[in-house]
Amino acid sequence: MSDNIKRIYFDYAATTYLDKEVLSEMKPYFSETFGNANSQHWFGREAEKAVIAAREKIAAIIGAKPSEIYFTSGGTEADNWAVKGVAGAQAAVGRHIVTSAVEHHAVLDTCKQLEKKGFEVTYVQVDKEGVIDLGALKAALRDDTVLVSIMYANNEIGTVMPIREAVEIVRGQKRRIYFHTDCVQAAGALDLNVGRLDADLMSVSAHKFYGPKGVGFLYVRNGVKLEKLMIGGNQERKMRGGTLNVPHIVGLAKAFELANENRERNNEYIGGLRDRFVSRVLSEIDNVYLNGSREKRLPGNANFSFEFIEGESLLFSLDVLGIAASSGSACSSGSLDPSHVLLALGTRIELAHGSLRFSFGKDNTVDEIDYAVDALKKKVSDLRAMSPLFYQFPSEKSKV
Ligand code: PLP
Repeated sequence: MSDNIKRIYFDYAATTYLDKEVLSEMKPYFSETFGNANSQHWFGREAEKAVIAAREKIAAIIGAKPSEIYFTSGGTEADNWAVKGVAGAQAAVGRHIVTSAVEHHAVLDTCKQLEKKGFEVTYVQVDKEGVIDLGALKAALRDDTVLVSIMYANNEIGTVMPIREAVEIVRGQKRRIYFHTDCVQAAGALDLNVGRLDADLMSVSAHKFYGPKGVGFLYVRNGVKLEKLMIGGNQERKMRGGTLNVPHIVGLAKAFELANENRERNNEYIGGLRDRFVSRVLSEIDNVYLNGSREKRLPGNANFSFEFIEGESLLFSLDVLGIAASSGSACSSGSLDPSHVLLALGTRIELAHGSLRFSFGKDNTVDEIDYAVDALKKKVSDLRAMSPLFYQFPSEKSKV
């Protein structure tokens, strides 16, 4: 670090660092084994071997066939491709899509774009913990529904969705409706075995589990009809044009392997840190609420609403102290609109504006947790002391 501030990273849901072991596996593919994996010579064949091995490794981890794995530039492309690809290929069969109100914008904005092209989309509501209402999902299915897209775990509040049960409801229909699940936040923390989840399409991105940024994959069950998204080359069995990013694909597979090998240990450790953080924050700071579910939640996620405070102000105050978190309301868009996820839970608009996400990773420590809680207590108290809203509730002053 260039400055002398102690830096604490609690934004692992935004991205992780690249694991050293993953980096060393990737290194030879930048300038030694640098061939184009589609070239018909030794250099090309060596690169191709690495891609084949990566594809086989990923397929084995999720219990799929290698031919069902398509490399992409990350989660956004995988989500776009799944939704647009199925919609495009099935348009003659039906033009109705079902998704949830709390999806990532990679799915939601794709659905909005399809609405402008004549598709109808039903946004199924969630309960106050962010779990999809399975009854509403069933009721939303129509004769012309071609796709259901429900995320496995939410990026803001960490809520884990009952995907297997949702798939069963969809499978219970007379006609085949494809099921896509955005597993970008779930990957690494949850088991993505396709035999167990039974989804037709799944999106994964490497930079959420200590792999490189800008690479991921879309699992597409053999037989699913999908239109191409990226055209212009015959790569990926003629389904996705573009020269393969061999070092990143190698890194994706290695990071996925490590994440799955160490999943239980990491979850236990990270979940322990998170529980300590949550229980200290809830017991030592007044007028703070945990957003999402206490139990059905990713181990690394804690999302709070602090009453009488703007999330951004708290975010910046913590940043000054070296603590990196994420504001729920500004999210990735840089807008000041309150989070669509928190609003979907029924959170009051002021509380949605006062939210902050802390997401933990395998290198965080108990000392960091304790330092951050102490800093948080002080900053919440300072900001409330300046808040005109707080003074409208004088009885609250003594509590902080
Ligand atoms: N879906 C979810 C749930 C996410 O959390 C993210 C990234 O934060 C994405 C999709 C997009 O993934 P990527 O950053 O690889 O494009």
